[in-house]
Formats: sequence, structure tokens, C-alpha cells
Amino acid sequence: MDMTEQRPVNEASAQPARAPALPDAQTVTEVQHYTDRLFRFRVTRPRTLRFRSGEFVMIGLMGDNGKPLLRAYSIACPAWDEELEFYSIKVQDGPLTSKLQHIQPGDEIILRPKPVGTLVHDALLPGNRIWFFSTGTGIAPFASLLREPETYENYDQVILTHTCREVAELKYGEELVQKTLEDPLVGEEAAQKLVYYPTTTREQSPKMGRITDLLRDGTVFRDLGIDGMDAGHDRAMVCGSMGLNTDMKEILEGFGLREGANSEPAEYVVEKAFVG
Ligand SMILES: Cc1cc2nc3c(=O)[nH]c(=O)nc-3n(C[C@H](O)[C@H](O)[C@H](O)COP(=O)(O)OP(=O)(O)OC[C@H]3O[C@@H](n4cnc5c(N)ncnc54)[C@H](O)[C@@H]3O)c2cc1C
Repeated sequence: MDMTEQRPVNEASAQPARAPALPDAQTVTEVQHYTDRLFRFRVTRPRTLRFRSGEFVMIGLMGDNGKPLLRAYSIACPAWDEELEFYSIKVQDGPLTSKLQHIQPGDEIILRPKPVGTLVHDALLPGNRIWFFSTGTGIAPFASLLREPETYENYDQVILTHTCREVAELKYGEELVQKTLEDPLVGEEAAQKLVYYPTTTREQSPKMGRITDLLRDGTVFRDLGIDGMDAGHDRAMVCGSMGLNTDMKEILEGFGLREGANSEPAEYVVEKAFVG
């Protein structure tokens, strides 16, 4: 405000002192906790935000130092959704998630409306079958792509693999697949094309093991009745820990697939689910 500007005394005193709103604030509309390490939440969507299914944005809260504390988060809903969904880890001493895990409907978060990322259809050449390989919260970008109509327009078969340590950590993915099958936009096509392949590494479940081991020894292909992968037909997107991503690259390249990017589409793309 111009310091020389005169304001009537009664107008100034009628305005109660308000804390400044968060920059790029969005309001939390829904929160669901799965385990002591995992939760999902939905927030209002900025009216001007456009994104491609599979991309990520920076979200966060105001830090104790008065500066925004932001982290990368995959948008876990398709581009047509009226709100935005996120699927989050809770790191007990994590600067952001030690606080973020306590958000409630009505609270505000910061959301920078600049979506980016490589897990997008534009980064892949046309093919017949797409594989979404995920571990932990790495399923989040596929929660977007699984409900994206383009996924079913582009491919005859869509295979989602999700590997977690414990059975309870698979719950979000199970609900996601159910919601996808019930979705009025993609449900019918998904019922024909979607294959869900969950595995656990620690707790007993119907399918045990790391996805990388199950690919290397051919278990996945035997289970699904598929003769391996080939660069002519198969496309893949990978989102997990650094270890998973490195191993998956080696496996996919062993089948002749090449890594693509927005600027140079090829047969597979990779993104980190987290750093560290
Ligand atoms: C491109 C990209 C997309 C991401 N999308 C998501 C997402 O959709 N959901 C999500 O929960 N996180 C996601 N992350 C990770 C996220 O940015 C933060 O690291 C996470 O929210 C923890 O923040 P923090 O400040 O509490 O702890 P940080 O200081 O960021 O992390 C502390 C440590 O916790 C571990 N850690 C962090 N994130 C995870 C995770 N997701 N799973 C397992 N261990 C983790 C790591 O060892 C890390 O060094 C993404 C990261 C990148 C780079």
C-alpha cells in the first residue's frame, strides 16, 4: 500500500489482522490413512492447472522459517479429475511429511501449478502392451494413468505391477484397480485390458518376491501367459526406488527396449519415486 495513502479510521479498524494466506494455497478435501507409513489426500484444483496424466508437481507447507517447504509429488488422479489426489509416505523425521501426515479436510497446502515429468504417453512410441512397474508410493503416477482414457486408446493390454513389503501397503492399489473398473469413463475398457500383479517381499501373500526377480526368472511371464517382452510391442513405465529403477532399466534393455523422454520418445521411461 502506498504509505501516503489516507484511509478512514473506521475502515482500517473494521479489518481484523489476518495472517497472510499461503502462496498457491489449495484446500484439503479428503484424507485417508492406510498404515502408519502411508496415506492419500485430495485437494482443490487450481482452475488454471492443466497437466498430463503421470506428471508431478511441487507441494508442501509453510516451514518453521516462514519459507515454503516443498517436495515433488506425483499427481495420483487423471487429468480430467475436478480435484487433485496425492498418495504419500509418512517419514517420521521427514521435514515435510512429519507435518503433512496431520492435515485434515479444510486445511491448506501449497501447490505450485507447474506440472512436469517423464511418465507420460508422449514419451513413448506406439505399441500394443504397456507395463506400469511400481514399488511403494511409486504407484501414484499410475493411479493417474490407469484412469486416463488415452491409456486404453493406445494399448490392447495394460499391466500394473505393484511391489510392497507388507500386504496392508497394497490396499491403495487394490482400491485404485476397483475404482478404475467401476469408472464410467474407462471401466469397460479396463475390464478387458487391465491386469493387476501385486507382490510382497516381506509379509506372506499370494505372490511373493521382488518384481525384478520375478521378471528375471520368467515367473511374471508364465503367470500372465506372455512370451517375454519385445521392443516392437511392449512399452514400459517404471517408478520406484533408485535400486528398482536401475535394475528395471537393465532388464528392459535386455529385452531391447530403449529409454525415452518427452523430447525423444522410445520404448520405456523411468522416474524416481523418491530421492535417497
Ligand atoms: C519426481 C518425484 C515424485 C515424487 N512423488 C511422490 C509421491 O507421489 N508420494 C510420496 O510420498 N513421495 C513422493 N516423492 C518423494 C517426496 O518428494 C518426499 O521425499 C517425501 O514426501 C518425503 O518428504 P520429507 O520432507 O518428509 O522427507 P525427505 O527429506 O524428502 O525424505 C527423507 C527420506 O525418506 C525416504 N523417503 C522419502 N520419500 C519416500 C517415499 N515416497 N517412499 C519411501 N521412502 C521415502 C528417503 O530415504 C529420503 O531420503 C517424490 C519424489 C520425486 C523426486
